Amino acid sequence: MGREALLLRLADPEKHLDKRRLAILKIQTEILRSMVERLIDKGYCWILPVIFSKTTDPLWPDPDFSIEKRVEVDIYGERVVAMQSMIIHKRVLVSLGPGKIFILSPNIRIERRDRASTGRHLYEFTQLEIEAAYAKMEDIFRIFEELIVGAMKRVKDELAPELELLGRDLRIPSTPFKVYRRSELEERYGRSWPVEVARNIREPVWVRDIPREFYDYEDLKSGEWRNYDLILPEGFGEVISGAEREYEYEKILMKLEKDGIDKSRYRILLDLAKKGLLKPSAGGGLGVERFVAYVAGVSHVAEVQPFPRIPGIVPEL
Ligand code: ASP
Ligand code: MG
Repeated sequence: MGREALLLRLADPEKHLDKRRLAILKIQTEILRSMVERLIDKGYCWILPVIFSKTTDPLWPDPDFSIEKRVEVDIYGERVVAMQSMIIHKRVLVSLGPGKIFILSPNIRIERRDRASTGRHLYEFTQLEIEAAYAKMEDIFRIFEELIVGAMKRVKDELAPELELLGRDLRIPSTPFKVYRRSELEERYGRSWPVEVARNIREPVWVRDIPREFYDYEDLKSGEWRNYDLILPEGFGEVISGAEREYEYEKILMKLEKDGIDKSRYRILLDLAKKGLLKPSAGGGLGVERFVAYVAGVSHVAEVQPFPRIPGIVPEL
């Protein structure tokens, strides 16, 4: 089957709701049950998502930026944007409300259509977002490792027939996952390190210190960013982005200016920081469809969605 035909087949629910699809949906259900239960047991408060807001993640500057347009609409005479991520909402909430939160958050990122065949991009997807006040990078590593390995073990124990139907020989990774610095990977693999690393590792690895959006913590003295991605093996690639966060007013202001970002969209965040109420925190977001694709061993992430959102293809449902 040619690439175009494969993408069209993936986008057509009638052609696609077969036994494989049902097995994948069962795997997704078990993964979510496992992760949500664990987070609740650890005292995380389950927050429901917002879709439209005056402010969202700028997704800029991000080395992986590939957004064709932002979805903006007028409601009640006000201009709002569709959520690209709930990072700003997470920062405000852990500062003022519950200190530990998680959200299954739908994100809209209108990726360029040439990303249809990467097997990894969707224009609507869901992140399992977590954020914890006063947490550090290592705390977040441990939580996500526990969520990932816990969910994989559960799928292996409960859904052996489904894994067999999908032809998936699932290996449970050992923890803690290895941690690399972005600079050493860049030296070894060049600019396309994220793709190369995903092809060359056998177990998930953390990559730290990636220059990107203003909200991730940057140590101005050493130039080191206290942020991270988790890269999955077998070519599945980046599945988590997260960081310790900026919380100081002057520094946030300076970084917004440097990035050329409209400060007026981040007034609440800036006001909190100015009053010393923006708490330091750390967190991250796990791409649910990408993680399910990895566990199920499917080659295109759209196979995980009953109503696929492949860049450039807009189906009726
Ligand atoms: N969820 C990410 C974070 O917590 C932001 C993103 O979507 O890239 O940092
Ligand atoms: Mg990001």
